[in-house]
Amino acid sequence: MSPEEVEALKKDAAEHCNYVLVDESEALEKYVNEKRIQKVYWTNSNGIRYTWGPDVINFATKYSKPWESHMNGKTNRKFLIPNEKFRRQLLKKPYSKGYAMMTTHVSHKTKGGWRLSRSDPHHILNFPPELLELICRFALVLPEEALITPLVITTNWKRHFSQPRFEIYNRHEKNEDPHEILRFNRKDDKGKYIQLRYLQVPAIDATFMRTCKTLHQIGSSILYGQNKFIFPTEGRKLGWQPSAVPCWFGGDIGEHRPSPVRPHGETWWKEVNAGIAQIQQRTPVTSLLGWIYYDPFPRFIHTIGPQNAAHIKSLTFSGVARIHDCSILNCGPRCPQDLVRSLRLYTPFIQQFFKGLQTLTIYPLQDDKSDEGISLILGRPKSLAEAMTRLLERSIMRI
Ligand SMILES: [Zn+2]
Repeated sequence: MSPEEVEALKKDAAEHCNYVLVDESEALEKYVNEKRIQKVYWTNSNGIRYTWGPDVINFATKYSKPWESHMNGKTNRKFLIPNEKFRRQLLKKPYSKGYAMMTTHVSHKTKGGWRLSRSDPHHILNFPPELLELICRFALVLPEEALITPLVITTNWKRHFSQPRFEIYNRHEKNEDPHEILRFNRKDDKGKYIQLRYLQVPAIDATFMRTCKTLHQIGSSILYGQNKFIFPTEGRKLGWQPSAVPCWFGGDIGEHRPSPVRPHGETWWKEVNAGIAQIQQRTPVTSLLGWIYYDPFPRFIHTIGPQNAAHIKSLTFSGVARIHDCSILNCGPRCPQDLVRSLRLYTPFIQQFFKGLQTLTIYPLQDDKSDEGISLILGRPKSLAEAMTRLLERSIMRI
């Protein structure tokens, strides 16, 4: 950065409303630190020179790049297929540069890096259990106020391409990504300085659970047992559901798009029991009933399996408790799924799979459509309170 540019930056920093009370060089330091501006040097009160280097990313969230495009001749839809056959090693493979940087920075000098023998008292599995749990919690558990929405329904259809992921809902406004700041001693023609580098850390890093059975077991109970899960039912649409997108599996299956219609009428229980059995038997994804395949909650249970579901202690559901007469004629294809109906459907699944559940939270939202003059249904609840009371009495109390 040229001296003129630095001067301009100084001025900009000093004018920044938060820094009006501090002097120019102090303002520059604060400003550069806040924005992690690279190639600008500043000297702190102890005379140590600092600068920011590029961020360090030591994890990859996606595997199997590059993708290949595939056109289904029948539907003219384009799908993305991994170029390389899936190998476990490709999953979350650390970027070699960032990873090397991190390990050289934190590895134990006296013990030759990470290779401790199992009998060494410093071996992680010889730590007292409560200490080991504490370490696992740092990697696996979100802060108290955070809720996780797992998004396990994915598609390789190019238009809506998505991979398994999760979203975090935080009741506090600020939701800064976890990070660490690495310090490197450097030298240039003006002498020594410290380069700061921002190490991005994933909010949840479960990669260590693949190292051995013991860590997998400990990790699973912490990952599922100590995080809180939320499933919002809003956003699903009537008729064509955005989640009911096709997926290309290739082979005999080709383009897969089962019917997302949920159980209804006289066969409700029969269908629900069939769905529960599919999850218990870990039925392959392509053979799942359409509504299990496309419903985020049952599909999540199928993905993690009954054993992990039994660890979960906190579940939250949110959405509109629908009381208006919903049809394409009345509303167009724009109404979200009804929270009450969803929960009625989920109740047998919760009873069956969530043996360790301690807290079930429901956030019902007002049905705005009921004020718009759309008729209510005879025999159905007329208010949010009534809808929720019925739900609690008929379904939730059984849990
Ligand atoms: Zn509607």
